[in-house]
Amino acid sequence: MKVGVIKETTAGERRVAVVPDTVSKLIGAKLEVAVQAGAGSQAFFSDDAYQKAGASVVPDAKRLINDADALLKVQPPTLDEVAALKPGAILISFLQPSSNAEVVKALARQRATAFSLELVPRISRAQSMDALSSQAGVSGYKSVILAANHLGKFFPLLITAAGTVTPARVLVLGAGVAGLQAIATARRLGAVVEAYDVRPAVKDEVKSLGATFVELPLQAQEGQGGYAAQQSEEFLRRQRELIGDHVASSDVVITTAAVPGRRAPILVTGEMVARMRPGSVIVDLAADTGGNVDVTKPGEVINVNGVTVDGSRNLASTLPIHASQLFSRNVSTLLLSMVKDGQAAIDFSDEIIKGCCLTNNGELVHPQAKALLEASKA
Ligand code: NAD
Repeated sequence: MKVGVIKETTAGERRVAVVPDTVSKLIGAKLEVAVQAGAGSQAFFSDDAYQKAGASVVPDAKRLINDADALLKVQPPTLDEVAALKPGAILISFLQPSSNAEVVKALARQRATAFSLELVPRISRAQSMDALSSQAGVSGYKSVILAANHLGKFFPLLITAAGTVTPARVLVLGAGVAGLQAIATARRLGAVVEAYDVRPAVKDEVKSLGATFVELPLQAQEGQGGYAAQQSEEFLRRQRELIGDHVASSDVVITTAAVPGRRAPILVTGEMVARMRPGSVIVDLAADTGGNVDVTKPGEVINVNGVTVDGSRNLASTLPIHASQLFSRNVSTLLLSMVKDGQAAIDFSDEIIKGCCLTNNGELVHPQAKALLEASKA
């Protein structure tokens, strides 16, 4: 099997799907690896490092794709990249099927066997393949570093000859993978941290990281597979009312709330931002899916009456070395689960394979993705 790795072409994307260490692992499993020249340069992995690990370095992306039995990517492929795939070739990447109908249909037409990393089931056996989690961890960490950079204050308590500095107060809304990493990072920097999530299951994890779990007298809809369910408009209205004082008294608010396949819920309104002290900071990690804060401008850092609202997108890409290393382990573990003696041996009855296979044999085979695509048409 020939594995292809191309340079990401999405604007601002600095990650690469496979790092040199992983190339050695794939070659050890009797695969051949071809990497496009410069594919790792934005993440500081040189062509030389790929060659030393045993990959061939190919200048032309189209030829590389044409020749690959398995293409590994971070971002969804472009329509041109899909058109260059061999029929039957494996593609593994983030595919965001709910917002990428054209690409999904093109993958089916091209008879690609495409796997969407967002759809990898959240079961323990799949943890090492879960790129959504590894990248969310990177974003959660970086959100706090950004907030600390914007904030005109220290995070830790400082007792100095010039007086005592009280620690920053950080509120994290949504305590999933990114939120928990944000809590841990803010605690390491010495902030006093509070967090809230609609899933009560996270309460103990929040506490074990040294943060306080904000209890709201609300009954949330339970979700499935470890994810939150979409809450009613009435629930979200009450939630905003009850969380308002916590937002107003925080120096930093990090929002990470998401519901798979849906627009991010609005947790913070413009009126709530107006109650925050000038100099406070919001980092809205949900900016990619519309934002948890209704004044967020995705991709921009804005100032709303002295409050910095950071809607930076794709934070994982701003830590390209570690984000690529983690992604590369995820994607190669998933690929190697479909390989025997250097050849494709895909067990479509396997829960993980079945869970994330989007197109096969010219068909869109994933029932949820089918439904989402129908919903996006409507
Ligand atoms: P996510 O990115 O979909 O959502 C982030 C968080 O937002 C979630 O914790 C969710 O409950 C929360 N949220 C949604 N609506 C909200 C609202 N109105 N108010 C406040 N919070 C809201 O989820 P994620 O972080 O990718 O994963 C969620 C959980 O899944 C993890 O914490 C973990 O428990 C579980 N998980 C399990 C595995 C595994 O077993 N392999 C892997 C990854 C995650």
